[in-house]
Amino acid sequence: MNTFFIEFRDPLFSIIIFFALIFVVTFFSYWWGRYKRKEDYRHLDTFLKQFRSLPSQQELKGLITKGELPEKSWLLLAHAYSKNGDYEKSIEIYNEMLKVGDKTNSKETMFLLGRTYFKAGFLERAKNIFLEILKNNPRTPQALTYLLLVYEYMKDYKSALEVLDSLDELKKDILSDSAYLKSLAIISDVNTTVRYKANELLEIYKHSYQLTYLVYDYLFRVNPKLAWENFNSANAHLISDVLWRLKKEDLDLDIIRQNGYLSELYTARGDVDFAVKSSIFEFDVLINLKKECCATLSFEYICNSCKQVYPFAFNRCSSCHSINTQEIELILSKNYHRDFSEENNSFQ
Ligand SMILES: [Zn+2]
Repeated sequence: MNTFFIEFRDPLFSIIIFFALIFVVTFFSYWWGRYKRKEDYRHLDTFLKQFRSLPSQQELKGLITKGELPEKSWLLLAHAYSKNGDYEKSIEIYNEMLKVGDKTNSKETMFLLGRTYFKAGFLERAKNIFLEILKNNPRTPQALTYLLLVYEYMKDYKSALEVLDSLDELKKDILSDSAYLKSLAIISDVNTTVRYKANELLEIYKHSYQLTYLVYDYLFRVNPKLAWENFNSANAHLISDVLWRLKKEDLDLDIIRQNGYLSELYTARGDVDFAVKSSIFEFDVLINLKKECCATLSFEYICNSCKQVYPFAFNRCSSCHSINTQEIELILSKNYHRDFSEENNSFQ
């Protein structure tokens, strides 16, 4: 029986103790390493979570009231939110700043709040903010400009034109805006005939020689004959998409034959045979392909002022609010309409 027990002074006993100690130390060091790693992950997760979730309205209120951050930091934060499309948070910050912030910059903060309301589409609130600014500071062109835009978006052209008078008094250039707003007012008037509207638009155009796209897009839609009679073919490139989509029966072949751009455009479309080549790449490709290939033109619209690209035509750039800055870009594309027609014919 005694053979199973090891004596206290036996060297074997020391060796067992030694290995047992090594095992205990290794086990604890492994366990401690795992625990620390887990803690590190958890800490990092908690830290990153702060940036994923936005502070609540109550938290924001507390932070702004405490005044731990300078006003400029809050303005930068609100601007960043607005730029990323989170208008709600941006509006909350501006509103809290106006309640508790330094009153010396309240006009500027109100302007930023009004602008954010406008971008977010809260036109009525934006209008009230700009009117409030102008009540105390009537000679604020920035607020007047945004108030004009608000009225325009609300289709209240009469009020927008009144704002324009105030901008005129401040010696601002209002020629384009005036022609544009008057044209919009004429087109949207439900009490006048199409013929009257067309003539009024032409009158405005003859005075300003601006808004070619707005005027001729309308005229070619409602009265192509009148449009051709008053159209300066040198401006054809400004409305190339309108001309491209014009019905075949509305074409004036005499005018088209006399102008190089129009001849190339309608030869490329396959209506006439007035041109054999074109200096414009897209027209040249389509003229050479004739009707054999299922290619056509599509259009992109670029603002000359801010370089914003739109898939649709515009008269006032919604990004920089400039008028008459649209440039039409021609794009060769597949003619899905032709494919569709051919598919339909194949079933007959
Ligand atoms: Zn622009």
